[in-house]
Amino acid sequence: MQPLLQRGGQRLVRCAPRALTLVRRHGTDGHGRGTDHPAPPGAARTPSVPMVSRMYQPANLREGGQESELTCRSQRLMQQAGLIHPSSPGCYYYLPATVRAMEKLVRLIDQEMQAIGGQKLDMPSLCSAELWRTSERWDLMGKELFRLQDRHGADYCLGPTHEETVTTLVAHQASLSYRQLPLLLYQVTRKFRDEPKPRFGLLRGREFYMKDMYSFDVSEEAARRTYESVCHAYDMLFSRLGLRCVQVQADTGNIGGTLSHEFQLPADIGEDRLLVCGSCSFSANVETLPSGKTDCPRCHTGTLAESKGIEVGHTFYLGTKYSRIFNATFSNHQNQAVVSEMGCYGLGVTRILAAAVEVMSTEEAIRWPGLLSPYQVCIILPKKGSKVAEESGASAEGLVHALQESLPRLRGEVVLDDRNQMTIGKRLKDANRLGYPYVVVVGQGALEETPRFEVICQQTDETMFLSKDGLVDLLGRVETV
Ligand code: ATP
Ligand code: MG
Repeated sequence: MQPLLQRGGQRLVRCAPRALTLVRRHGTDGHGRGTDHPAPPGAARTPSVPMVSRMYQPANLREGGQESELTCRSQRLMQQAGLIHPSSPGCYYYLPATVRAMEKLVRLIDQEMQAIGGQKLDMPSLCSAELWRTSERWDLMGKELFRLQDRHGADYCLGPTHEETVTTLVAHQASLSYRQLPLLLYQVTRKFRDEPKPRFGLLRGREFYMKDMYSFDVSEEAARRTYESVCHAYDMLFSRLGLRCVQVQADTGNIGGTLSHEFQLPADIGEDRLLVCGSCSFSANVETLPSGKTDCPRCHTGTLAESKGIEVGHTFYLGTKYSRIFNATFSNHQNQAVVSEMGCYGLGVTRILAAAVEVMSTEEAIRWPGLLSPYQVCIILPKKGSKVAEESGASAEGLVHALQESLPRLRGEVVLDDRNQMTIGKRLKDANRLGYPYVVVVGQGALEETPRFEVICQQTDETMFLSKDGLVDLLGRVETV
């Protein structure tokens, strides 16, 4: 065997017959993890190219496991594609490709929250009942709260939201000055709610990820400005994802406060009913209006049309509801303690992932917001034993090399479909179903003097034949996060 290329944990080798194969080098196991044979000291650690044959995205999970009714498109597609797997009602395994998509979404959220001054922290999920009794929500939350006791008999709940927890934290800082406000603290953590009807896969779980941010301001006016800036950040986020959300006036529910909006993604399976004015920008959740209302309360001329939406985000102006109870104060110009004005702002992280798949996919094929796709590019290698397989080794190798060298941003974003016992057609079908934005086929064209590769842009359904340089040029424009 003659090594062709040595990059990180793997090397491409030509073996008899001259088919392109990947062999692991001692030191890593092909996924960048250590093995019994440590890499020599100082060896370069370029990420290896993930192989479809080794990915833990198991189609065999389609059957078995905890039965769950496949109630909507995103749940069915995600389960069938080995993206999620049900464990108990409303609880899921997030399989590796989903974790990649989620990490990307969290990076985007971090960018937008930090752009408006958000500081990330991480609060305990195990929350003492004391705090919840103080706010009177221990009783108010009823069965939705997952409750438990420690060995001493003290009551706890698994955090469904963190107003009590964060306000207690901020209240502990006696020296908080007006100069430090607005203070925006946020986290991305698992939340626990014993939903009466967990369903639709990740859209309504009992254990799910939420981004929750809490703001502390010097005055109502300042808090309203903060509220506006968070709404703007949410608009930015959804527009980067290519999701057209509607911001609707909303009920404040058991969170409390006086001003609230939901960010709703229009979808037939949405569980919220929205009323949108045909003449002005007014839109509201039906819960906020008297039943049967059809005329617009803002412009009084337009008619309200009903549609359905998935609530992907929620913002609340809380006033001093929690800060008063927990005594979260700051010192003003005169060095007097003043109760902070608060806001809280949620984004359903796992719900956004599923909602995006729900509205962007077809019945057969997953489509992601480009930025969230678990991998950007899938290269399909020729079928074993074919003429192309025997003769295209060098050009396929050149292609992988060029992508790794010229496009560092795409490192880790390119996968090789090495299941070379399968026909190209079958693998193309899989790639279509999984929704890689770009699929590159090493076919007949790879044997030409200047090798050409078939490139399918799945978002636009376009097919192109590009040289290695053309492909590098195209993929160089792919946005990643
Ligand atoms: P819903 O009305 O859908 O039950 P909520 O109004 O109770 O949601 P919030 O307390 O506003 O939810 O939580 C903030 C965000 O967290 C929501 O906008 C939503 O995107 C997400 N979220 C809430 N509940 C769930 C859940 N059970 N599964 C997944 N995401 C959820
Ligand atoms: Mg809500």
